[in-house]
Amino acid sequence: MSPLLLFTLFAAAMASFGAFVIWLGSRSRRRFDRALVLVLVAMMVSMSGGALLYETLPPLLGIEIAIFLSMWIMVAGIGYLVGQLLEPENAPPPTPRGLATFRGIVIAGGLGTEAMLGLALALASGSFALRGGPGVALTALLTSAWFLLPMTLEMALSFLLIRKELPTFAAALLGLQPALMALSPTLAPAGSSTALVVAGGAVMTVLFVLIMEYFTRHRSLQSGVFGYVTVVLGVYAVMMAGLFLWQYDGNPALFALSVVLEMVLFFDAVLSPTRFQGEATVVWDLKAGVVFGIILLVFVAEFFMGATFDLALDGRSAFLALLPNVPAGPTLATSVGPWFLEGIFFVTTVLGSSWFLLMMGLEMGALIVFKMLGTRSRETRVRLGLVLGAFFLYTLYLPAFYFAPDTLRWIPMVGWSMGFGTGGGFFPPLLFVLLATYAISAVLSLLFGARQLCSGLCSAALMYQGSFYDSLKTFNRRSPVGRKLLGSRISRLYGAVFSLSWASITVAAVLSYLNHIGTIQWTVYGEDVAYFTYVLYFDLLWYLVFVSIPFVGTYACVSSGYCYWGTFNQLLGRLGFFRLKARDPATCVACTTKPCTKACPVGLTDLPAGFIKNGEFRALKCIGVGDCVESCPYDNILFWDVRHWLRDRLGHGRREAPSFPAPRKVPGSPVLADETTLRMVAPHR
Ligand code: SF4
Ligand code: SF4
Repeated sequence: MSPLLLFTLFAAAMASFGAFVIWLGSRSRRRFDRALVLVLVAMMVSMSGGALLYETLPPLLGIEIAIFLSMWIMVAGIGYLVGQLLEPENAPPPTPRGLATFRGIVIAGGLGTEAMLGLALALASGSFALRGGPGVALTALLTSAWFLLPMTLEMALSFLLIRKELPTFAAALLGLQPALMALSPTLAPAGSSTALVVAGGAVMTVLFVLIMEYFTRHRSLQSGVFGYVTVVLGVYAVMMAGLFLWQYDGNPALFALSVVLEMVLFFDAVLSPTRFQGEATVVWDLKAGVVFGIILLVFVAEFFMGATFDLALDGRSAFLALLPNVPAGPTLATSVGPWFLEGIFFVTTVLGSSWFLLMMGLEMGALIVFKMLGTRSRETRVRLGLVLGAFFLYTLYLPAFYFAPDTLRWIPMVGWSMGFGTGGGFFPPLLFVLLATYAISAVLSLLFGARQLCSGLCSAALMYQGSFYDSLKTFNRRSPVGRKLLGSRISRLYGAVFSLSWASITVAAVLSYLNHIGTIQWTVYGEDVAYFTYVLYFDLLWYLVFVSIPFVGTYACVSSGYCYWGTFNQLLGRLGFFRLKARDPATCVACTTKPCTKACPVGLTDLPAGFIKNGEFRALKCIGVGDCVESCPYDNILFWDVRHWLRDRLGHGRREAPSFPAPRKVPGSPVLADETTLRMVAPHR
């Protein structure tokens, strides 16, 4: 048998034994059981420590010390066990701190065992050399196959042993973690880690989707589940940042730290699986700060995942070529500004990159599919399908993979997202394409409303309308800023934001134009001023607002009026055919709960007032998401646009077929209701 195979089998055997000890630890209810586990851990540590001493000290000395150490640890262990047997039966139960200490010792022992054994076997196999200081050597060991693979096996086996004690969600969460560990990119030979980077990113994305969907369905969570999820998200944010740094400059220290953190977290959970059971006690969506933390951690992990994809798939030099060179000054004071600007360029480059958008598209797309599955209205289901199609075709495939960048700028709409977008600046040869983009979008908004953009073509539709993010629309009514932006009236805040946005983009466009005709020479380190403004708005500010949902509500780009491209289309939508119509305004009068006022992700709470007063609702901010249609228990809301106008004109007007069960009359009321509503209104009557 080759030495390598022998070492591998030995490492696997130790990992299996480690998993068994962890499993024993998870079942230890009595003091004696816990003492036995601690003794087994001590023996594992002494064995692996002995192997390491044998490998690093002169052979004879190493063997002597190893045998001496093991013997004394065994003697001490037996003495400790006997001592536990002599403890009185009615000894007080362990405190939570005592149990946490027990778990801490078991985990530290398990990790120490694998690290020492991994190092001993790696040195013995000749595949590892101790280079650099202790920190460098430890980092290299923790990210090597000699540590990661046995630990993955230990994680997987211990998970399988306790699997039956876990609720389904916790089992999925813990089950994916060994898979993620097995896909650590540092396991691949140098220069060929791309497949592992992508596969690991895919598993992590699945994990995020699972977590977000679970949160959507469970507003109240068991505290163990909630605590575990929030910490695991933090660890993944660190892990992705670590992978990015490793890809960028070859330093795996942060990644190694995240690996250890994840293992500690995982084994801590395996050692106390009961934490995932019991009554739900945390109503997570009542805590704005906590929700913000969760969204932020997911976003940070996604950001670095996108950046890692960019480096792995496009190459480091291609990625760096996208970043403008901002020369730093000679002193700290003169360097802060350039560094800040470089930071902005770095962040916006990643957030606008194709791989980031693809990853986000898949993640947010999965949440859209969950929303579709829970949607009763056929029209909304179809629209959500169009949102998916629009994102992958219009936002991603055509601009990023189909058209060459040079060609793209000559194609209206596709190459001109947000009216500036990938087309670049505001200069004479491209004026026609720019104006054509505005004209096409304007016509679409006049005919169908701003829904063609804000609930369709814009990538914001994908981001905001997936199940999890849509469920956060309660913050439109609860957050301080969200409350100021409620309803269709143009508040002072909206007016100020709207004016600032339009003023800035107009100034930027004029500067861009003057620069291109040679009147001035103004760029932002070579970047066109108008294009830079667009990037600031949509590759930076937009995401800041997005992660701030708990403080500003959902769809804040619409409700606050900060998106110039959105407000342009919303204005035309308001002037055009699009509106919501009430099939019967009297139904709204008698409707006691008015759920449509809570359904709108933009916060349009005055729908019923419009229906009752005018029989229809028209508003600048209405972007036709359709959640109100879905929420109305009477199926009383109807979308109306140029198609209905044409039907009316051509004499083919027909009442839209209800997509809900036929409404029926509320007892004692002149209006109709279905079973759900009858149940809903009963307590109020
Ligand atoms: S307001 Fe702007 S960013 Fe928001 S959905 Fe509309 S076009 Fe997109
Ligand atoms: S839920 Fe339906 S019936 Fe009730 S106020 Fe809204 S549109 Fe009218």
